[in-house]
Amino acid sequence: MTIATLRDVLQRAMEENYAVAGLVVLGWEDALAFTEAAEETGQPIILQAGPGCRKHTPVPVLGAMMRGLAEQASVPVVCHIDHARSIEECRQSIECGFSSVMFDGSELPIEENVALTARICDEARRAGVSVEGEIGFVGYAEGKTSAMTSVEEAALFDRESGADAMAISIGNVHLQTDANARIDMQRLREIEAATTLPLVLHGGSGIPADTRRELAKTSRVCKFNIGTELRQAFGKALRQSLADKPDSFDRIELLKPVIPAIRRETVKVISGLSD
Ligand SMILES: [Zn+2]
Repeated sequence: MTIATLRDVLQRAMEENYAVAGLVVLGWEDALAFTEAAEETGQPIILQAGPGCRKHTPVPVLGAMMRGLAEQASVPVVCHIDHARSIEECRQSIECGFSSVMFDGSELPIEENVALTARICDEARRAGVSVEGEIGFVGYAEGKTSAMTSVEEAALFDRESGADAMAISIGNVHLQTDANARIDMQRLREIEAATTLPLVLHGGSGIPADTRRELAKTSRVCKFNIGTELRQAFGKALRQSLADKPDSFDRIELLKPVIPAIRRETVKVISGLSD
């Protein structure tokens, strides 16, 4: 059994200068492909169920699916809830077997964000579950704009929240289909100087692969959330499969070729953060 927490995988990544991929799961095929890619590379991964995924599939089903994969895997696999927005959501996730939760209090006043994260950390710790929080606000392509992480707020969160990892906003943006985000290195260095926690960048697909590699090697950023580029790989592979089998109506037959295609792209992502 190799189910792990953020503490287990990020401390080591931080000390040994690499980063772990937080992979956005939307269903069985991608979750399986991600786990196979982790085993192929020999690296840990974080399987993440975000709000969109949870809207489509009940959390107990997702918890059982991810734990099933983690328990069979030969590498550490973190079963993580992404962007939970309430204590109740975090509690339900823990009850459903998730080994890690992200509490997103990024749109709350800083004091409230720190206090709520601290409460969740108390409960999570008793269950052996890790917690990621967010300071500043990571915006969305064609949606809400970002608020950069303030160094003072990051330092306060680092000291008082009890979280295991801290997501920051330094030019990274969710759901970018082109990798052209410009990371504010000066801000990152200031945050690093004022804090000690492992740092997380959401919107990893928008960050050029070279920049991801450099940050993994030379900074305390040791978790990159990766969704869009692997969803693009899924769409491309599924379209190809539909074109290859115009008479097929069986979802298993149509979806089977998608798994190795996602796996290949995921191996590239993981290797780019850890080689
Ligand atoms: Zn996010």
